[in-house]
Amino acid sequence: MAKIDKRIKKILKAEVKRQNEGIELIASENYPSRAVMKLCGTPFMWKYAEGYPAKRYYGGCENVDAIETLAIEMAKNVFHSEYANVQPHSGSQANAAAYRALEKLLLEKGQLDGYRKMKVLSMDLNSGSHLTHGSPVSFSSNVYDFVFFDLGPAGKINFSILYDRILEEKPDVVLCGYSAYPYTVHFEKFRETIEKAKKKLHQEIYLMADIAHIAGLIAGAQHMNPMPFCDIVTTTTHKTLRGPRGGMILWNNDELTKKVNSAVFPYYQGGPFENVIAAKAQMLIEASSPKFRDYALAVKKNTSKLRDELKKLGAKVSGTENHLFLLNTLDSFELTGLDAQKRLEAAGITTNKNMIPGDTLSPAKTSGLRIGLAAVTTRGITKAQIVKLARIIYYVLSGNISTEEAKKEVLSISKHLKKVR
Ligand code: PLP
Repeated sequence: MAKIDKRIKKILKAEVKRQNEGIELIASENYPSRAVMKLCGTPFMWKYAEGYPAKRYYGGCENVDAIETLAIEMAKNVFHSEYANVQPHSGSQANAAAYRALEKLLLEKGQLDGYRKMKVLSMDLNSGSHLTHGSPVSFSSNVYDFVFFDLGPAGKINFSILYDRILEEKPDVVLCGYSAYPYTVHFEKFRETIEKAKKKLHQEIYLMADIAHIAGLIAGAQHMNPMPFCDIVTTTTHKTLRGPRGGMILWNNDELTKKVNSAVFPYYQGGPFENVIAAKAQMLIEASSPKFRDYALAVKKNTSKLRDELKKLGAKVSGTENHLFLLNTLDSFELTGLDAQKRLEAAGITTNKNMIPGDTLSPAKTSGLRIGLAAVTTRGITKAQIVKLARIIYYVLSGNISTEEAKKEVLSISKHLKKVR
């Protein structure tokens, strides 16, 4: 058996050191359990299993059938859905397959004729949507006709703006669920607004939710569940949900079943990653435990705490009702998001630059940072440590502490947190 190559070992060691010594505030990252990680390296890894349980293109699939069936059952159980597909390799692929399934349903119903592209109404890209929600650099804007709605003046979704945009644009699909939106997504209000508009327009409008960021809060009962209100729901499995890297699709309407499954395989993907599906099953079992509810609640509380402490110090921050908030670095410190990210990174705090609503700077620079507490909550950060962390962030960004001093302060917190490995 070959050993891990020395060069690879060295890089891996450096990464584990970086993660242990640093403080991770990227809202989309988290640390899965050892059990989840271990399952990614099991013999399920090399088993070919194109198809679905009991309908495979290969022999020897009885155990992958059992593991995939367990993952599907757990996904349905955790999110209260009738159906689930656990094969998407990522959130982007889950979104691609969900769009395709909706497009096929609209073709079948005669609302699309094969000439007109499916029209999707999504939130303005600068306000916190994902690239796959119609960005010009993503397949989504090329394959589908994306149109957008703006946030209201409070930086929150405003349902009368949404209603007017639906009447103006007559979309086939309304998409909700975001990458950098710090507030609750009111799925029930999306549904109400769509139903009202449908009566006026006399056409079908499907509601799709991308819960990639908030899936863990939903599983932990700290955010409302989209399932009763949405036609199709996509998610990643590696953010607040704390699983392996991957995606999932959930739905209740049987008319979508064949369309979703065939959009994932064979339309967009080949053989499923059954090792990752085994890890998804484990993650879903963990996410259905009372301990996970405590975790999801702690994520929200910790996020509010850091946000409140920064605000007390004088920083300009968004509100927060979930696992993240936005820090306006331009107004608070006269720094672009990019420069703020770099300064914090030099001190061992990892964040990401992010557009803020109404941003006038480019996505490469931005006026702010997105800050999330899901990962440090997994490492067991305390309230007192959050108070200290807020001060370090504030002093680093206002230039009142040297990088060396800040690094020492960061280390004085991180050495007391749980080791990432
Ligand atoms: N959807 C949302 C809302 C996201 O935030 C992300 C990733 O950040 C994705 C989809 C895409 O997930 P992935 O990176 O797994 O393709």
